[in-house]
Formats: sequence, C-alpha cells, structure tokens
Amino acid sequence: MSLDALQDKIYIRVGGALCLDFCNTVGWRLRDVTYELMGTPVRLIGWAWQTGVLSDEEAEAALAEAAQRSEAAEMACTEAAAFRETLFRILLARSEGRPAAPADTAALNRRLAEAAALRRLVPASAAADADATAGPAYRWAWAPLADAAGQESRRPGPAGAAAAAGPALRLAAWAQRILAAVAVSAAELLTAPEPPPVRMCGGEGCGWLFLDETRNRKRRWCSMSDCGNRAKQRRHYAKKAHEAGESS
Ligand SMILES: [Zn+2]
Repeated sequence: MSLDALQDKIYIRVGGALCLDFCNTVGWRLRDVTYELMGTPVRLIGWAWQTGVLSDEEAEAALAEAAQRSEAAEMACTEAAAFRETLFRILLARSEGRPAAPADTAALNRRLAEAAALRRLVPASAAADADATAGPAYRWAWAPLADAAGQESRRPGPAGAAAAAGPALRLAAWAQRILAAVAVSAAELLTAPEPPPVRMCGGEGCGWLFLDETRNRKRRWCSMSDCGNRAKQRRHYAKKAHEAGESS
C-alpha cells in the first residue's frame, strides 16, 4: 500500500492544536448517530501523516506493519478512539472552566509517561555555520519507530496469570507515537500560561473543538463555510418565514 491510500480521507483541521484536531476526527459528535472519520488503521495512519506526526517513511512503514499485524492495528484504532474521548472530556472541561475528571487526567498522565519514554533530545541545528549561541541548543524529537518497537519487545513479559495466558498484544510503535504526540500537544495546551480559549462549535450537533485565536474572542463556528454557513441559512429562512407571517 502506498502513501496515496492515506489521502482517501482529507482531514479538515480547524482546531488550532494537534490535540483538538484529534478530537475532531469524529463528525456530529453530539448527535445520536456520529460519523467516524478515523475508524480504520489506514485512516488513523492517514491522519497522522497529514498532520505531520508521521513522516513519509514512517507512514509507509506503519502501513506495512499494520497490514502484517492486523490485530495490533485494530487495537490501535480502539485505543485511539478511547483516548480521543478522554481528551474530548478534558478539553471540554477546559472550555467550560471546570476541572477534568481525575480518571481522565490519570489516563492522560499514563499516555504522557509513555510519551516520555519515546522522546529524545537532539542537537537543535546541524548547520555548522549557525551561530552556536543563538536559540536553544537542543530540541525534542521522537525515537525512531524501529527503536520504539525494539524497546517494547525487550520489556520483560507480564508475570503470573497474565503470562500464563500468553503475551499481551502490544500497541504498535506507530500507534504509540501517534498517541504520544497527541498527549504532548494536550499537555502543552493545558499548561500554557495564557492560552487562547478552547471553544466548542455552536453548530447544532457538531461538537468540534477549536482554539479561539480571534482578537475579540468571539469565534463561534468550527468553520464559517460549514456550521457558520448553515446557521446563517437558518437565520435567513427564519427571517423569511417571519416576514411571510407578518405580511399575510
Ligand atoms: Zn461545527
């Protein structure tokens, strides 16, 4: 499977932060019937590739591994969807100015602990002619997927009854990376000293989250061309109906 497969669905990114875009991978979240945008391993890898979490080479490797280990790939989708709901609850609480549920914060902290094991400091610039004293000397990078997979397989197996039941299915290295990147994005947003407010789209049933980076902090819609436009049309028809009622 080639990178072309990853464009099967083009993700609309209106969140303003990776963690919010991740929450927005389900459509019509507040309706009875939601629209899953990320329900297959290829879609999940496609999202990560389109958002830059996985490079071209990493996305190709992830596709190959997902095809080879389909059970682990399906588990990645299940874990991603569960983590998405955890994050949604945390970020919705943030948008409403209330604390998140302790169980949700604990789940995010578990992902952050896994993310810490995958992060590496690397020299910020390889350019020899750059002024060595300007800017940070190091930056954060992710451990190569192959390293992450190796590290995982070297981990001692589960003890006792779990061991007797056979080794637990481990989360694929590419999926660990995706969830780690999203968790770090959420932590950065939640610890920012003066972040733009997190808002939920005012569109009926939409439920998408975004950072309100407008100057007057009055952004209401995930997208003007989508929910914003629908609301405008509704107001238009309501006005027409009202006028028709008055004239009759
Ligand atoms: Zn919307």
